[in-house]
Amino acid sequence: MCESCEGVDLNDPEQRGGGVSRRALLVGTGLGLGLGVLGVGLPAAQAATAKNGKWCNPALGYFPNGGHFGAPRGGVSHAGQDVTNSTGTGVYAAAAGTVIRRQWGGGLTGRTGNGIVLSHGSGLYTYYGHLNAYRVSLNQKVSAGQRIGDMGATGNVTGPHLHFETHNGSLGRVVNPVTFMSGRGVDLGGGWPALDSGASGQRVRAIQHLLNQRGYGLEVDGWLGPTSTNAVKRFQSASGLVADGQVGPKTWPKLVYSLQRGAGGNHVKGLQTALNKRSAGLLVDGDFGSVTNTAVRNFQSTNRLTVDGVAGPITWRALVG
Ligand SMILES: [Zn+2]
Repeated sequence: MCESCEGVDLNDPEQRGGGVSRRALLVGTGLGLGLGVLGVGLPAAQAATAKNGKWCNPALGYFPNGGHFGAPRGGVSHAGQDVTNSTGTGVYAAAAGTVIRRQWGGGLTGRTGNGIVLSHGSGLYTYYGHLNAYRVSLNQKVSAGQRIGDMGATGNVTGPHLHFETHNGSLGRVVNPVTFMSGRGVDLGGGWPALDSGASGQRVRAIQHLLNQRGYGLEVDGWLGPTSTNAVKRFQSASGLVADGQVGPKTWPKLVYSLQRGAGGNHVKGLQTALNKRSAGLLVDGDFGSVTNTAVRNFQSTNRLTVDGVAGPITWRALVG
């Protein structure tokens, strides 16, 4: 996949993710105190929030052979991670941000095809390449999980896939997207996310609705604060899980319900909230009627899942991943 495109010279310090290595060096040499001035040393609570809850899967798919970060590309290295699925598969913003590029190759050297660059602030950028269609405009603000385009095969490729890059420090400082996303609770390509205490956002709202279906009576404020974390721990204990308060790959499957048309309640509110994270635009009323049914089917179709209108574990995982 990608063939000769998206190669950059990782030996070039401008392309190597210098932000991370320099930070490690500073800490290692006892100069870490200066980092707060650079905006890296966040207070603990903010750091926990930044770490997860704000990042999500840009596309469902698998990693093709040779599509990994750093793979040799005609003398240079693959600058991203390829995620393969069919043309038209939804491509979503990995985090909230602003569309700063929407052009061939994202305006980045060596990249080809329709590309989008999102700026997430704090020197973080993501790039989405080979898109079949754009679903956002230049300078548009996007939320995490909002649909920004369709997977495609534009540019120098052998088949449809998303070429996904993560830049840390400044635009051009590419870092391994798999480890970058993993450090933010996301299993790139698909998989349950890991949300720790302190996380916030739509998925936390979904979790609170799902817990309320079981009678926990939580305020749905989208924050995994002490009260909600305690509820997660109690749910984990009651479900035979380790009560660590983290909603991760073991907790999610026990937490979600298999839902279809006719269902009603807080669990449906959780589903509607999760669908909204993926741009469904539903009224969160807890009623699984025709509108929610259509939204589930559209999401399944867009993500190449079985289109049956049943929100089971696989659909849930794709929604919240
Ligand atoms: Zn690629």
